[in-house]
Amino acid sequence: MASSSPEVAARPDAPSLPESEQEAISDQFGRRLRDLRISVIDRCNFRCDYCMPMETYGEDYSFLDPDHYLSFEEIVRLVRLFSLRGVEKIRITGGEPLLRPNLDALIREIDRVDGIRDVALTTNGYLLADQAEALAAAGLHRVTVSLDALDPELFREMNGVGKDPETIDREDRRGPGDVTEFFGRRPFVGGLPDEG
Ligand code: SF4
Repeated sequence: MASSSPEVAARPDAPSLPESEQEAISDQFGRRLRDLRISVIDRCNFRCDYCMPMETYGEDYSFLDPDHYLSFEEIVRLVRLFSLRGVEKIRITGGEPLLRPNLDALIREIDRVDGIRDVALTTNGYLLADQAEALAAAGLHRVTVSLDALDPELFREMNGVGKDPETIDREDRRGPGDVTEFFGRRPFVGGLPDEG
């Protein structure tokens, strides 16, 4: 088993719940809740108009001070508590989660939690090439790359910062191997708009 990174310096005490509180969480229709999304950062390197329009989220916008983020220890503790209530699948999101330093250390700790059988990530893909190998080695099972358009002009317009979709594709292939090698499947590309 891999050792903890300095970012997750001390393995938090395994939390426990009284037996009476270990029942699975259900919604009002009695459906068990097995999935939990965790936002690890509020910042993003894109400015999609439908999410973080530049007029609002410009240079003067006050994002959270990193000191106020949930620490990795706190996140892992929450995952343990939710796993005791029946959560089995964790999806890491943001903002853009790959902007959170040492994210692979968090993935590693979450993957070690009893009862968690799936750890996934949603990303805009821009930083994925550099981190894919470390994330896969840490235990990340699945990646969703949200790509709003394949047409470069439309994509540049939609992300608000002038990035090309080809840049992401090329970046994915530039690393120490195609990211699909690390995850064993082609990353799912979602969010394609109806261009008709
Ligand atoms: S990439 Fe995602 S998080 Fe970032 S601005 Fe666009 S929709 Fe929002």
